[in-house]
Amino acid sequence: MTKLQPEIRCGKLTKLPLLQSPVFPGKKMCGIFAISSNNTTTNQSTIDGLKKLEYRGYDSWGIAFRENEKVITQKFVGKISDNKKEFSASSETIGHSRWATHGSVTKENSHPHSVGKITLVHNGIFENFQDHKNSFKNYKFISETDSEVIALMLDEEFKKINNLDHENIIQIIKNICQQITGRFAIVFMVENFPGIFAVRRGSPLIIGKNENETYIASDIPAFLAKTNIVNYLDDNEIVSNSPKYIKSVFQKNFYKYFEEKRILNNESDRIGKQPNIYSVGEINRISRAPLRLTTQFHIDQDGRPVERKDFD
Ligand code: GLU
Repeated sequence: MTKLQPEIRCGKLTKLPLLQSPVFPGKKMCGIFAISSNNTTTNQSTIDGLKKLEYRGYDSWGIAFRENEKVITQKFVGKISDNKKEFSASSETIGHSRWATHGSVTKENSHPHSVGKITLVHNGIFENFQDHKNSFKNYKFISETDSEVIALMLDEEFKKINNLDHENIIQIIKNICQQITGRFAIVFMVENFPGIFAVRRGSPLIIGKNENETYIASDIPAFLAKTNIVNYLDDNEIVSNSPKYIKSVFQKNFYKYFEEKRILNNESDRIGKQPNIYSVGEINRISRAPLRLTTQFHIDQDGRPVERKDFD
């Protein structure tokens, strides 16, 4: 099969080989799916979305969600569809299906990882993690993963701040990313601070929104049943999600725009059911359908979406 790198910007799903992920074909990668919602059904929806990412391959999985003031984490080795556990209601959830790179397949090593105020999922490889791990002599690591080191590095910085706000959280994320080499997608929640934060470099992250919810995922099938308003994070782009808005600090002046992909209903149904099967015909139909800019959001400094007239 020819190896082609798909064009992943601007909803153009072109040049794809058969039977592969529309984002990075032919790779074994973990899945990330996170929801911030006005409803309290995000736990089940996150699990449903993770199932749609099963084609990426995984050995264990987990979710973290807000319950009152706390962030609760549940982890499992094995298949998501074997789960019998019922989860309580929550309006913010992050989920992860792991493809182990650092440490064996155990519940402790599966994600999310919690350290102090931070609960995090990570896709990718933190190449210089050992150097950083060695510098935390007094911390007892629960897992063997590179990912827990990122959670610890973040938490160490959070501990230094008395009044957390978006500005200082974003600054912390930037600082930590500068210390990490390798490819990553990181999504995390902060105890007692609403919203979900995400950043990527090399590994894919896609965002989506509808009226009541915002999504962050490794790939479109996770939330295709819920919206076709999507966008792709740039390398080093940081976003903060709430039910109503996605705030990007990488784009100029905190705006993030969306392009509506004109995916016909019957096509999205089919893709949703068989997320690993994208025939060339399907992709061509999707990519040839007229792309229309219908929704443009300019996020002001208070996080309110305002319509954006110019577009660059
Ligand atoms: N390096 C991390 C781990 O081994 C993340 C692997 C993944 O992308 O699933 O847990």
